Amino acid sequence: MSFQLFGLPVSRGVAIGRAVLVASSRVDVAHYFIDDTQVESEITRLRVARDAVAGELTTLQRDLPHEAPAELSALLDVHLMLLHDDVLTGATKQWIVDRHYNAEWALSAQLEVLARQFDEMEDEYLRERKADLEQVVERLLRAMERGPSSSFAPAPSPSGARDFGGEDPLVLIANDIAPADMLQFKRSVFTGFITDVGGKTSHTAIVARSLDIPAVVGAREASRIIRQDDWVIIDGDAGIVIVNPSPIVLEEYRFRQRQSELERARLSRLRHTPAVTLDGERVELLANIELPGDAAAALEAGAVGVGLFRTEFLFMNRGGELPGEDEQFEAYRAAVEAMNGMPVTIRTVDIGADKPLERMSVNELRHEHALNPALGLRAIRWSLSEPGMFRQQLRAILRASAYGKVRLLVPMVAHISEARQTLEAVARAKQQLSEAGKAFTDVAIGAMVEVPAAALMLPSLLRVFDFVSIGTNDLIQYTLAIDRADETVAHLYDPWHPAVLGLVAQSIAQARAAGKDVSVCGEMAGEPAFTELLLAMGLRSFSMHPSQISSVKQRVLRTDARRWAARLEAIVSADDPQEACLELSRVLAHAPTPAAALPA
Ligand code: PEP
Ligand code: MG
Repeated sequence: MSFQLFGLPVSRGVAIGRAVLVASSRVDVAHYFIDDTQVESEITRLRVARDAVAGELTTLQRDLPHEAPAELSALLDVHLMLLHDDVLTGATKQWIVDRHYNAEWALSAQLEVLARQFDEMEDEYLRERKADLEQVVERLLRAMERGPSSSFAPAPSPSGARDFGGEDPLVLIANDIAPADMLQFKRSVFTGFITDVGGKTSHTAIVARSLDIPAVVGAREASRIIRQDDWVIIDGDAGIVIVNPSPIVLEEYRFRQRQSELERARLSRLRHTPAVTLDGERVELLANIELPGDAAAALEAGAVGVGLFRTEFLFMNRGGELPGEDEQFEAYRAAVEAMNGMPVTIRTVDIGADKPLERMSVNELRHEHALNPALGLRAIRWSLSEPGMFRQQLRAILRASAYGKVRLLVPMVAHISEARQTLEAVARAKQQLSEAGKAFTDVAIGAMVEVPAAALMLPSLLRVFDFVSIGTNDLIQYTLAIDRADETVAHLYDPWHPAVLGLVAQSIAQARAAGKDVSVCGEMAGEPAFTELLLAMGLRSFSMHPSQISSVKQRVLRTDARRWAARLEAIVSADDPQEACLELSRVLAHAPTPAAALPA
């Protein structure tokens, strides 16, 4: 049966593929593809875990005290029976062989299939056996975690992923995916993503966008309703998911898919065209990256530098062990060298909120700790509370500056004291490097404007910092008190809100007046609907995901910044700034007259 689901469009385009459900297990489950040579060893891991759990259950049963109720022993019998049932381990083996899933993923995929079958059973007693099945699977997963070869595997080799034998394209469906897990899918075979939860600028959505494949988040019940192997269309422009589409709908979407590929190819021809407005203003289009390897995509897209390197992704999922100075230095140096003399803005770690160190989704964080992590120890607050870690990172960034043009960016500054402490830490890091005879150059130090407090006290920050970068994702979240990762309030997360536009406009104007560089590196910078307005505000430096550069460049090339600037006040003070922007675009498209002659 065909049906539709609705969510938030977070990454453009159309994806068509078979559903792969990623279960949200209580045990930390890694999902990665294995190559042909690893199939046997994965099956062995599964077998070893099964034998270990069988041993555990048998021992438990043997050691039951005499007074234990008879049901306990019967329950352990049920668990042993489930453990040896071919529908569990046999079918799991098949996922490993056919799909090349790692053993944990294969097991959780099979659990998903069986759990649905249990849910549909008429008999209440049988339906309740689902909980037993989950317990057995959990034991198996834990046994694999303990096992000799259970260490968490990193993303598969690109070739391994590509050689994966399935013929149909695959789309990934999950309740939630932690940003770090999303990174693992960077080189995977998935052609699209759907999650039940999440907001448009949640970090999961941002990483999905960085994969440049269609994605819909906040699709509520998707992972419950869609079944393994269902055919799914993801419309990443409209936020629509169509499950088991009719042949006519499928054909329509295949057509749209081809159209958007053609459009992308057309836009990519702008790659080497300088971004200059109609009235001759030069605009800098920079890239946001998460890993050094992303620098290649930045260059490919025609970025003239990196405006935001989100270093926190180097820190995630390491079982509490943080990357040391040398490891970080190598990562930063790789990005700097790849950018070939172009500026690279490295942001100090922004851990916290929806980017926890451990593999944990924001939902788990909220529910397990009943906190609002966005208001907690994150970004520069966390760095200043971990001075040893912070100095290591500062030294690593400074050392990378010997290999190219590095700028250092500090996330979420809200107090002048944080600015001072940061500068002191940088001074100490420099002193340590000098004493150790390690090379570095004088890097510019900038602050992110992400909380209203920073925007409102910008003149003070501008006296301390060399440049500022406006993080609109957080600025919107904190100005409007809307959790950017929460799909239930996503309709209120409004980048067009006059209060947000006012803070952005004021920050750009104040930075320019102080003669300091200012850029925007939040999602607003990569959204073509905002290009003219940001140019009107005086912005000349935009940082975005590489895949967005050509669409924004096209807008820049068609904009007369002076004419737009003349209408800035009217737009920002309008009741509906978005409509005012659209109206002005229509008027300017048809009226090549001086700005003064335009209707107000
Ligand atoms: C922002 O908040 O706009 C930003 C760029 O930082 P991040 O999205 O990493 O929080
Ligand atoms: Mg931010």
